[in-house]
Amino acid sequence: MRLENQIALITGAGRGIGRAIAEHYGREGARVVVADLTLESAQEAVDAIEKAGGTAMALAMDVTDEAAVDEGVATIVKTWGGLDIAVANAGIQHIDPLHKLAYADWRRVMNVHLDGAFLVTRAALKQMYVGGGGTMLYMGSVHSLEASPLKAPYVAAKHGMLGLCRAVAKEGAEHGVRSNIICPGFVRTPLVDKQIPEQAKELGLSEEDVISKVMLKNTVDGKFTTLEDVSEMAVHLAAFPSAALTGQSIVVSHGWHMQ
Ligand code: NAD
Repeated sequence: MRLENQIALITGAGRGIGRAIAEHYGREGARVVVADLTLESAQEAVDAIEKAGGTAMALAMDVTDEAAVDEGVATIVKTWGGLDIAVANAGIQHIDPLHKLAYADWRRVMNVHLDGAFLVTRAALKQMYVGGGGTMLYMGSVHSLEASPLKAPYVAAKHGMLGLCRAVAKEGAEHGVRSNIICPGFVRTPLVDKQIPEQAKELGLSEEDVISKVMLKNTVDGKFTTLEDVSEMAVHLAAFPSAALTGQSIVVSHGWHMQ
């Protein structure tokens, strides 16, 4: 087990990529905090982790709510005595061309990804600095490194998360904190399922063509990145033993993006 004795917080972990990471961390021996918008949305993942023999707790944490994030981390420390790994994963998508993009939609996407990642980072670092170190992980995207049309706020926010990750690597080093960002290609989750018909409408393509000619066009094998691909990388980065790996963006995209 690669994460024994580790206490891990994962935001947006009720479903999708966050849930896959939470379950994988549970199998690797970590005590897992499944945080999501409501307790109900987090509970199913907690049940799955416990059924597999792991230890988990559900936490209601809207990452855009400063008090909820601070109180959530305080609850973890009070309940389990510390925090070793924090994964800023919560995210949303919005599809629109820039010239039609409402300011409210721009702000909503930036708020969840970038403000949320900052609030989780600040609360986690305060604890990690007194606890002797830890690991910050960010769920970036290939869109942390390149752009696609119709996703301007998402692309800007994901680029911003890369900057935050690097800043944490610089500041956190002397406190034993490592910071890395995982940049997946398309993973079949509710977030992606929702945007297939939206992109088909905007681009005038069939849904099959959105998948093959837009989403998977530049992969080496025409395949979606899997939940397992991403959660395995999240385990690897959390378990990595030194600051040789810090401030890095790790692309998990079936060759869509090569850096
Ligand atoms: P998803 O929609 O399946 O899950 C997102 C989760 O985040 C949900 O459980 C939702 O309730 C939660 N969430 C949303 N807003 C929140 C908030 N304000 N506070 C707390 N939780 C909130 O999405 P996913 O595909 O699993 O995406 C997870 C992360 O991975 C996101 O940051 C996304 O940008 C990133 N990502 C996804 C893909 C992909 O192809 N699916 C690719 C690259 C990066």
